[in-house]
Amino acid sequence: MSSSSSIKVKFLIDTERKRVVFVEAGSAFVDVLFSFLTLPLGSIVQLLSQRSGLGSLDNLYESVVQLDAAHLRTEACKEMLLHPRSAAARQCENLKIKYISELYPVLLYTCSDSGCVAQTTYYYEYASKVSCGSCGNLMDFKLCWPGKASDQGGVFVNDTVDFIMTDDLRVMQSSFANGLSIFKELQIKDASILEERVIDFGTKEALDLLKRSLISKNALTEFCFPDVCVEASGDSSSSNKDEIVAGEAEAEAENEIILELFLNQRNNEVLYAEVGEDFLNFLFSFLTFPLGSALGFLSHNISPFDGCIHNLYSSAKSMSSVCFKSEVYRDMLLTPKLPAFYEYKKHMLKLKEVPSQEFITSGSCAQCISSNGRKRIKISPCPHGITEKKYIQHNPKSAKGVEDNSGAFVMSSKKFMISDNLDISPLSLISAMRTEMDFPISELVRKKVSIDRAKAQSLLSALLVSKKVLADAFFPKPIQKKQNVDGVALF
Ligand SMILES: [Zn+2]
Repeated sequence: MSSSSSIKVKFLIDTERKRVVFVEAGSAFVDVLFSFLTLPLGSIVQLLSQRSGLGSLDNLYESVVQLDAAHLRTEACKEMLLHPRSAAARQCENLKIKYISELYPVLLYTCSDSGCVAQTTYYYEYASKVSCGSCGNLMDFKLCWPGKASDQGGVFVNDTVDFIMTDDLRVMQSSFANGLSIFKELQIKDASILEERVIDFGTKEALDLLKRSLISKNALTEFCFPDVCVEASGDSSSSNKDEIVAGEAEAEAENEIILELFLNQRNNEVLYAEVGEDFLNFLFSFLTFPLGSALGFLSHNISPFDGCIHNLYSSAKSMSSVCFKSEVYRDMLLTPKLPAFYEYKKHMLKLKEVPSQEFITSGSCAQCISSNGRKRIKISPCPHGITEKKYIQHNPKSAKGVEDNSGAFVMSSKKFMISDNLDISPLSLISAMRTEMDFPISELVRKKVSIDRAKAQSLLSALLVSKKVLADAFFPKPIQKKQNVDGVALF
C-alpha cells in the first residue's frame, strides 16, 4: 500500500481536558474525510481487516467469504461483494493520501484469445475471473486504466476554501465566527490552555480515523489521545428518537421478498431465519452500498449510531455550494451511485447505477499496449493490423450465453439459514435441529415476514448497529412485548 504521501494537519488542543477543539484543515484533508462516504460498506470491512466494529457487518462479510461459490451466478460475483468497486474510484485516485489505492487497482482485464484480439470490439472488466463475452475464456490479460480523472481544483471540495472540523467531524468553512461558536459550545474561556499541534496524516492515520469515525463520538480526540476516555460533552448531532421505522408490509407482489423466522414467542428472540436467494441478494447487496448512500437511507433516524460519521454526511449536505467543486461532486458524497452492473434490481432501497463505460484506443490493440505502469505505449502501425479498437465493459454477473436481467449475485434454488447475527449457511435440517436454544422448544414459533421499503431500512440500520439484526429489524424494542407474536405455534 502506498503511503508515501501525507498531509500536515493543524490540531487545536485543550491541554487541560485533553481533547481536540477543532482542526484547521485544507481541502486535501477534507477530501480524504469526505471520500469515506464514497466507500462501499464491503470496502470499509476490507480496509479495516474485518474489524469495522459496525453492528453485524463484519459477520455478513465473513459469511460471503465462507459461501461456496457454487451458489453464486459467476465467480466474479464473490469478488464484487468482497472487493466492491466505487463509482468514485477515479476521483479518489487524486486524493493526497493514497489510503484506498489498494481497493481500486488501476487495472482492467481483457481477453487474450487471438480471435478476440483480432476483433475491433473488445470486452473488458474491472473484476478478475470474468469470462469473455465472445469466446467464454477467462479474461486474464491486464491493461492499465486509460486516462486519469482531472485533479484540477481538488477532488470533491473547492481547493481555494479553508475548513475547520470539530471533534465529532462537523466540517465548516473556516471563519472567526465558526471558531468562536465552537469555543462557546465547549465552554472554553481561557485561551492559555490551548495548544497547537501539527500531525502528519498518512495512510495509517486515515484508516485509524475512518475506524474511529464509525464507533466514536469524539473521533479526533480519540485519534490524538487513544488512551483517554472522553466524557460526552453535549450531543450536538440532531437525533430524532421518536421516529420508528415500522411500516406495515405493503404487498408489492412481484418484488416481494419473504423470509420465515423461527423465534421464541416469549421474547421474540430469533433463533434463525430460513431464506431463499432473493433475501441473500438483498442482504449481500448492502456490501456494495456506498456509506454515503447508506447514511442517506437512514438519515431520518441516525440515533442508534455510535460513531460521528453522520456529522460528516450532514456537513456535506448543509455546506455552502462555494465549498464544493460543483454540485456533481457534492452528489457523489450524498447520493453516491453504484458502479455499472452492481445493482440488484429487486432491492427495495434503490440506488442508481452509473452506465457502463466504453472507450476507444487508436493505433494499437490490447496486446500492443504495455500493462507495465500507468503509461500506455502506442505502437503504430499495430502488427495485428488494428487501427482502432472499441472496449465495452462486460457484465461480470453474466455467464457465457446467459443474459443477466435481475442483477442477482446469488443463484441457487436452495434454502439458506441465517442466524440473528448473520451467520449464513445452506439449510441443513440436522444443524437447524441441533441449534442450541436457551428456551424450551415448546416456545418456538414460526413467523413469515415480508420486506417492504421500511423494513429494508430497518434491516440496513440493524446491520450497522446491532448484533441481533433480525430481531431488532422485525421486533424493534418499543413494541417488543410478550404477547405480540402471532406466529404459528409449532408444538
Ligand atoms: Zn475472448
